[in-house]
Amino acid sequence: MSSKQPAPGNDIPQNHPAFLPEEEREMTRRSFMKWMGAGAALVGVGLPACRRVEKYLVPYNEGPEWSVPGVETAYATCLSMGGSARPVLAACYEGRPVKLLPSLPYPDGPGLPATAQASILDLYDPGRSKHILFHGKPASGDEFRGAFSSWSRNLRDGGSIGLLLPETDSPLVHSMLEEITRKNPGVRVYHDSPVPAPGSAMQAGLPQEVRFRVRFTRAKRILALDCDFLHENPYGNTRDFIAARSPEGLHYKEENRNRTRLYAAEGRVSLTGAHADHRLPVSPARLAIFTEELFRYIAGRKFSSRFPQPAPEAPASLTERELAWLRRCGDDLYSHPGESLVLLGEDHPELSGCVWKLNRLLGAIGTCIQLLKAPASLPHGTLEDFIRDIRQKKTDIVFLLDSGNPVLDSAHGPALAEALNGTESIHLGMYEDETSRACRWHLPAAHPLEAWGVERDRRGRFCYRQPVILPLYGGISPEEVLSGLLSTKGQLITADNSPTHLSPVYHRARKCFERAVNPENKTAAWTEALQRGYSEETAYPPLSPQEESGFGAITPDVSVTDARTHADALGSGLLELQFCPDYTIGDGRWKRNAWMQECPDPVTGVSWAASAQVSPATFRRLGGTGSGPMRCTITASAGRMEVILCPIPGVAENLVVLPLGYGGMNHVAEGQWNSNGYELRTQVNQANGCGIPPDQVVLHGLPERTEAIQGPVVQLSPFTAGGSAAAALFTPPGADTVYQWKMAIDTSRCIGCNACMIACRAENNIPVVGRDQMAKGRALDWIRIDRYFTEEGALTAIPVACQQCGKAPCESVCPVNATVHTTEGLNAMVYARCWGTRYCATNCPYRARRFNFFDYAKASEEATRLQRNPNVTVRSRGVMEKCTYCVQMVERAKIRHKSRLMKEHPGQPSTTIRVTEKDLLLPDGEAQTACQLACPAAAITFGNVLDTSSAVFRAKSLPRHMNLLPSLGTEPGTGYLAPARNPNPAMEEQDREKIH
Ligand code: SF4
Repeated sequence: MSSKQPAPGNDIPQNHPAFLPEEEREMTRRSFMKWMGAGAALVGVGLPACRRVEKYLVPYNEGPEWSVPGVETAYATCLSMGGSARPVLAACYEGRPVKLLPSLPYPDGPGLPATAQASILDLYDPGRSKHILFHGKPASGDEFRGAFSSWSRNLRDGGSIGLLLPETDSPLVHSMLEEITRKNPGVRVYHDSPVPAPGSAMQAGLPQEVRFRVRFTRAKRILALDCDFLHENPYGNTRDFIAARSPEGLHYKEENRNRTRLYAAEGRVSLTGAHADHRLPVSPARLAIFTEELFRYIAGRKFSSRFPQPAPEAPASLTERELAWLRRCGDDLYSHPGESLVLLGEDHPELSGCVWKLNRLLGAIGTCIQLLKAPASLPHGTLEDFIRDIRQKKTDIVFLLDSGNPVLDSAHGPALAEALNGTESIHLGMYEDETSRACRWHLPAAHPLEAWGVERDRRGRFCYRQPVILPLYGGISPEEVLSGLLSTKGQLITADNSPTHLSPVYHRARKCFERAVNPENKTAAWTEALQRGYSEETAYPPLSPQEESGFGAITPDVSVTDARTHADALGSGLLELQFCPDYTIGDGRWKRNAWMQECPDPVTGVSWAASAQVSPATFRRLGGTGSGPMRCTITASAGRMEVILCPIPGVAENLVVLPLGYGGMNHVAEGQWNSNGYELRTQVNQANGCGIPPDQVVLHGLPERTEAIQGPVVQLSPFTAGGSAAAALFTPPGADTVYQWKMAIDTSRCIGCNACMIACRAENNIPVVGRDQMAKGRALDWIRIDRYFTEEGALTAIPVACQQCGKAPCESVCPVNATVHTTEGLNAMVYARCWGTRYCATNCPYRARRFNFFDYAKASEEATRLQRNPNVTVRSRGVMEKCTYCVQMVERAKIRHKSRLMKEHPGQPSTTIRVTEKDLLLPDGEAQTACQLACPAAAITFGNVLDTSSAVFRAKSLPRHMNLLPSLGTEPGTGYLAPARNPNPAMEEQDREKIH
């Protein structure tokens, strides 16, 4: 570590590559630029040329004529999320992928989840696996090639091979698995995932070859049963839901009289539940009883003769209040036939039959829910089958292909490790982890941006994965391994060792496309498909009405006797545990991703640590004092888990919501506690069936850093509009008459998903500061999400960045004019002038300015610096920084617009082209900020308020528009639209009663 660098504490471990001398780092800038030069030289020769062939390199001073430094080239590609694909655009600068953007034409979801955007950081992660290992020691290429040939020979000779993969809909992987099992009957396929895929519980009630999608535009009443569909929406397009729910429509253009009403019954506070009009806390164990009663109630209303109404008194397991809520919700759903639907969360597959019957009763099938016809998938086994087959010697060789870390995260971890140890096992993964250590061989896996592939989205569309860079660390893709096993010579050929630097998977991907689409002009169609990123014509066809009619047939057999017994057992004083993937690091796959670690949990506000939720009453029952949070240790039969326990209004009583994903190897920061939820899940499931006595949950004093690493969790009264403006000391400069940039954030749309925070990081080169610096309140995010809980447990998320005040209090106190007003209404920073007095931050009433205490950017790993956006200054120590409304994107849009104007006058010298002010005016939506582009809920509207036809003008003209702290007279450029719920008048009185 350089002597000038700040001591990193335990934010970033002392042995972190960032603090090693240059010569000890494996990934140097020079070596990277060698690869980059190879990439940049050939980007101009057609789409497949994003595979770069180094031997034909030309010096960069003869670079491709259209590659302009600082101007991005975007490639359509895709990521696999939860087993299905998400098309994205990879923005590259001179061959360097820098950020992932939403694919704008993609019909099922503008916006991009935070995790998808953050995966760009994993590409450069110097902690990725780089070497082939044999028994934990680096093996030579010759040793590995020899071994691979013997495995292929074994296969061709009729040997038995086991292939463990994550659940996937990839048509390319399916076709290769189909070919390999057809040619070699000894091959067995197994699937495993640490947590159920979003949407899988409802899918469990349908045959394999029938899929479904939700048409949110048609649904006017939605009940979410422990279903967080707004988080990375697996069912359909979130913007359709927002459009149907917004009082003024998606673009603030028309009055929406028949708005969607959202009900939620759940134990934890999810992003969807927090957004609901009515929310009932029901613990997971009692959800079955609730669902059964709801079915009986609605069926009773529809067929009173066959389904008698439930007894008027509340059943033992539902309170009177719950029953009243259920009936009013049921009445509302029932009175909107064909416009109501019920969605079920992935943790409750046992309720899928009941939920499909409910949807049939409500007339949702064929209207709000469309059933689709999918191809049948290959027969496969589970992880238990995999272990059993190894033990019984039914497989000679096993491959674990990008299958996560089952030794850590499955209930059979120790048994799996033992089985893998005793057989020829090959692990392909991006990191060395518990599973790689249990295997004989470990191969470094390629990042999705480094390998060819074909995936399917939930609607069935083929999405094409193009590599935008050669494998940085020699990674191999699962498709390359399968292709190697299928090859006649039994050789593993990758992009790195192919003579043409083109992976054989490219040809397979192209064939897969041609088989499905069967185009006339194959080359043109393939190029077009790659440019677009997906093929609409491959979407699953809908089921015919006759085929549809069989699903969800209404019969009264919805008995949940087991669930009742379980709920009764928990009622005898046990605390119920609910395990959920963490909102920031998911099921653990993002735990090395510092952007996601530094993002606050959208509900608890905690970053860099596992955070759990309980209700305030349960918190007090456990001995918690004050408003929390507290450090908590949960012990089970043979282990313990440490988390930050946060009292959150709205969580069901006697329920502890625990995050999965932490623990094990591969943390970015040292000092994270023993927070392995998987270990506890296994033990608790085996010992107590998800219930533990309260004395096993022990609260400790406040940990020294907890307060600071938790963002604002505040209970405030609702916004109030108006307020008198105080006298300002400030005289604004002359205003531009063409552009005045403003923003409106709709708090009734914002779900608090953090996608805007990550987009801002990627676009504006915001460095990671680490856990200790976060604890000192030195977060550098230019946008933060404040959370406001009402007493009833509803949560309103409010993104707050620099408000771009018209009369900015920060500008008048800067002694060196480092923060100044532009004529276009921006409050700009001149970094070169700033000398760090921090007067501006002190005078900012919105706490929106961030001070760069250390040279965080320099302290970051060299490889991750290559992710930086060349259009944004990298700030150094001692400089104040803040949101700029992505001024670089605005200026880029202006340049694009001007060059379009020029193209309208071909051959005419620019000096002779006459343009009016109106010609220069950017069309609305042309200039977008990074946060706006990423927001899946269209909560952020940005634009030129002088353009009266713009969406931002319309949003700012609405009566529910207001400013933060209006009485200060700062005239902020960013305004907020007050939450607009759509409550059921019959339930308002009930909801006024306090939940706790
Ligand atoms: S503004 Fe949009 S992206 Fe940001 S937290 Fe809200 S919903 Fe997510």
